[in-house]
Amino acid sequence: MKRYTIIAANWKMHLRADEARQLADAIAVCRPPEHTRIILAPPFVYLYEMVQRTASHPHIHISAQNCSQFSQGAYTGEVAAFMLQSIGCKYVIIGHSERRKYFGETDAIVYEKMLRAIENDLTPILCCGEPLDVRQQNQHREYVFHQLQNTLFHLDERQLTDIILAYEPIWAIGTGIAASTEQIQEMHHFIRQSIAEHYGSAIAQQCYILYGGSVKPQNATEILSLEDVDGALVGGASLQADSFCAIVRASAAHRKD
Ligand code: PEP
Repeated sequence: MKRYTIIAANWKMHLRADEARQLADAIAVCRPPEHTRIILAPPFVYLYEMVQRTASHPHIHISAQNCSQFSQGAYTGEVAAFMLQSIGCKYVIIGHSERRKYFGETDAIVYEKMLRAIENDLTPILCCGEPLDVRQQNQHREYVFHQLQNTLFHLDERQLTDIILAYEPIWAIGTGIAASTEQIQEMHHFIRQSIAEHYGSAIAQQCYILYGGSVKPQNATEILSLEDVDGALVGGASLQADSFCAIVRASAAHRKD
């Protein structure tokens, strides 16, 4: 099965409305390789406008950065998955390390959020990844496996085919220091193998596994060429059209049939 390349932009809690519009418009005209799909994840308040604004660009899709673990109800300040779906949002980032760190999201909460997304026809972009001390103790495989065991591996085969995974070592996020290509390929291969052991290799081959953590124009080509990397989740470098478009163009390096 042919896998396309996904380049996703996580704008986090940045940009005024006018800046978000300008950035989206500039990204909309950067010409991606034919097999590349762009996902933009703006803050909630801009989602509706971004869906409308990018509607005439079929290679661009809009993602939320989070959703509630609850279906609906008296949860002041929360945004439900069905609301995202109702405005034309297609994806939602779930379990980003910043949500886990600053908002106390446990694997159990992440799993609930993933279910709400799936129930509402949103594709979750499920993040996993280890902190620095875990990497230094050489426990990163076990750590990530445990995260997946508590979340992804509860899904059945049918649910699994519409999930995007993002491996984001926490020590590489926002630090400017990406994991090495050896570290990235090793973990992506490990994750794919773990999925194969649970669901079979055909399903594992269909799974999208993105890398996130200080991806920039300078390292995008080598990262995107790796065998088990299906794209990138980009934070800092997605806030400038020039750098994000350079990463999008670098996805030409990724060609797996
Ligand atoms: C992220 O926050 O998902 C991320 C990968 O950020 P950065 O690219 O800035 O490391």
